[in-house]
Amino acid sequence: MISASTTTRSQVIRIGPAEARFEGWCERCLDDPTPQSLGLRWLRVDGELPLEVDAGLTSCRRGHRIAVRRLGRLTDAA
Ligand SMILES: [Zn+2]
Repeated sequence: MISASTTTRSQVIRIGPAEARFEGWCERCLDDPTPQSLGLRWLRVDGELPLEVDAGLTSCRRGHRIAVRRLGRLTDAA
C-alpha cells in the first residue's frame, strides 16, 4: 500500500578521511521483514576502502548495492 520509492533509493555509507575501514547497515534489509529471522548480524555491512580511494561500491550479504563515499580529506597532497 505504501509506494515509497525504496527500490530506487541509493544507499551510501560515509567513511572518514583517514579511515580505511567502514561499517554500516543495509537499509534495504532493514526495510525487508525477512532478515529479522536471520539476525541483525546479517544487516551489518563492513569492509575496507583504500585510503587513496575516495569512493567505492560494496554490497550487503544479500546482494544490495551500497555506495561508499569518503568524506572531505584533511589534506589533498598529490
Ligand atoms: Zn541488504
